[in-house]
Amino acid sequence: MHSLTETTIRSSFVNASRKTIKDMALPESFEQMTEADWAALDFYGWRDPKFARRAYVVVPTLDGDLIGVALTQAEATPNSRAMCNWCRDVRLPNDVVLWAAKRAGAAGRRGATVGILACLDFECSHNVRKDPPLPYDGYDMGAARVRRIEQLALRTLGFIESVTAE
Ligand SMILES: [Zn+2]
Repeated sequence: MHSLTETTIRSSFVNASRKTIKDMALPESFEQMTEADWAALDFYGWRDPKFARRAYVVVPTLDGDLIGVALTQAEATPNSRAMCNWCRDVRLPNDVVLWAAKRAGAAGRRGATVGILACLDFECSHNVRKDPPLPYDGYDMGAARVRRIEQLALRTLGFIESVTAE
């Protein structure tokens, strides 16, 4: 994805109150992000350094917009073999937790949420870029990686659609 500014990020949210957006803190690493760091991401996700269970994902859409969704980590912990719905990394390289997103608009005001199992620190972009051991001679690693990256982008967009759907 392209690099983002704090202003762009703050104006991208579809399911958060003004107060939530005002209170939102970016991670310390944000200032040090390079073009290459951004290019290695399919979406930008982080846990709020000030609020234990709050997190945010910002997803680029196909027509070049940016949609941000605020998440709350559920109290319940999924079983230890839970797989992330976004990167679907079968190697389970990191913790996966259950996130809830308030739906946008009227549904959200009535309390409707969307749940999703996703990586604890949103390691998905990193995970899909990590090649598995060669499954057989002649296996096209590069093509498989491109496919994993495309699928991650589609799945995060699908999630955004379920949050914004009327
Ligand atoms: Zn993941």
